[in-house]
Amino acid sequence: MTLKTGIVKGDIFLKHIPGDGCPDTPQRLKSIYSMLADSDMQDIFVDVLPKKAEKEDILLFHSHEYFEKIAETNGKNLIALTGDTHAGEDTFDAALYATGGLLNAISLVAAKKIDNAFALIRPPGHHAEKSRAMGYCLFNHVALGAIFAQKILKLGRILIIDWDIHHGNGTQHAFERDPNVLFFSIHQSGLFPGTGIFTETGLGAGEGYTINLPIPKGYGDAEYTSIFECLLAPVAERFAPELILVSAGFDTHKDDPMGGMRMTASGFAGMTASIKRIADKVCGGKMVYSLEGGYNSDALSGAVKAVLKEMVGITCCDISAMAAKANKKKVDYVVRRCIEVHKYAGHFF
Ligand SMILES: [Zn+2]
Repeated sequence: MTLKTGIVKGDIFLKHIPGDGCPDTPQRLKSIYSMLADSDMQDIFVDVLPKKAEKEDILLFHSHEYFEKIAETNGKNLIALTGDTHAGEDTFDAALYATGGLLNAISLVAAKKIDNAFALIRPPGHHAEKSRAMGYCLFNHVALGAIFAQKILKLGRILIIDWDIHHGNGTQHAFERDPNVLFFSIHQSGLFPGTGIFTETGLGAGEGYTINLPIPKGYGDAEYTSIFECLLAPVAERFAPELILVSAGFDTHKDDPMGGMRMTASGFAGMTASIKRIADKVCGGKMVYSLEGGYNSDALSGAVKAVLKEMVGITCCDISAMAAKANKKKVDYVVRRCIEVHKYAGHFF
């Protein structure tokens, strides 16, 4: 049986032009949008309108001063917000529609009008801090989505899974004191932004509800899927979220220029199958993905296609078979380090 999978897409996201040399090019989404026109992808998904977020939506996480700073870039030529993050004339609008599109998708999934959704948006969001743009990100869509789900939709616990090759520092900082948002990030150690070591486990009442898995380069489909199965699944089942949000970056792909991971499209399907199984078990299948990184357009569109097919139920990855091929040493290292630092908090191990 296929599911109702929502997709957020729109021309506005192609109008964010962050300047020459920025890897977050419109081509990333053009490649995904043209993949959606493939014969095996047509008439399958539900279009979710990329609604424009209101200022009050953005202020759920970001500061008033920061919002005004980004708003001032509207209609102007390229403005450098930081060394690596620039706003062009349509960037403010694109960022507002990106957040609004994700919030719309979350509302529809929470109301069971659709089963799950993927926001195919840019600019990305997971590096954006409360009052600072960073790493091509302006507004932290996933952080805003989680707060929106709790404050406006009145949901309780939210699980955020961030599988981008870079650590989602902005998202972690948004929730590090919050025991009702579990932030689970797997990323390559030593890369930008430098945060996300094993011992960053949350603060105060949130101690133990931030799980960081910084891994060396060289992990692939089987290792990622195995880690999801033997670490994420039991933790998530114990946490019992009412909604799962995924910061879906595709820069772990073996052909991506950013890092040194060995993922292929099949691995992204494997991780999605694993998350879907968790979601089915704990929260009625409610999961919403938001696009983060992924800088080889062909690899990106191929991997997004594999994820979407798994979300909607066209394919059904054999998770156990994929996980069984994992290099045991690589998986054991991550599981052992994670349990070592988390056993003191006592929530999951
Ligand atoms: Zn990334």
